[in-house]
Amino acid sequence: MGIRKIRTMGDEILRKIAKPVTEMNLRNKVLVKDMFDTMYKAEGVGLAAPQVGILKRIFVIDCGEHPLVFINPEILETEGEQTGEEGCLSIPGKHAQVTRPMKVTVRALDMNMNEFTLTAEGLEARCILHENDHLNGVLYPDKAEGPLVDNEAEE
Ligand code: ZN
Repeated sequence: MGIRKIRTMGDEILRKIAKPVTEMNLRNKVLVKDMFDTMYKAEGVGLAAPQVGILKRIFVIDCGEHPLVFINPEILETEGEQTGEEGCLSIPGKHAQVTRPMKVTVRALDMNMNEFTLTAEGLEARCILHENDHLNGVLYPDKAEGPLVDNEAEE
């Protein structure tokens, strides 16, 4: 297992714009595998490459449906609205309410650099939009309604 260190808020790499991936080479394959390992170990549902210190346009998600890799993703369309609790592996122990589209259509490349288009709803849509924001240096507190809340405070 390749567990990488997750960068936390305050680390300036999280505020930078990630660069497109031009080829699927061994380095990128290992990165994606390590990103899944790191996400599952941290019990997250999504992880973007900048969160492990790599400024490449790659994110992985697993919202309980199936693991998915998005390379050079583009948001094609959004629809509707949902407000819900959101957290981030780069902001441990906190959450806040964030309003995002209910539905998203995204085009990206898979592990073989083949293009695919996917439409997701609900939690999966939230997840995709959150991770896509990481590639542009955006963190959920930028969009949150109200302050960040400690996870334990409500339990
Ligand atoms: Zn995040």
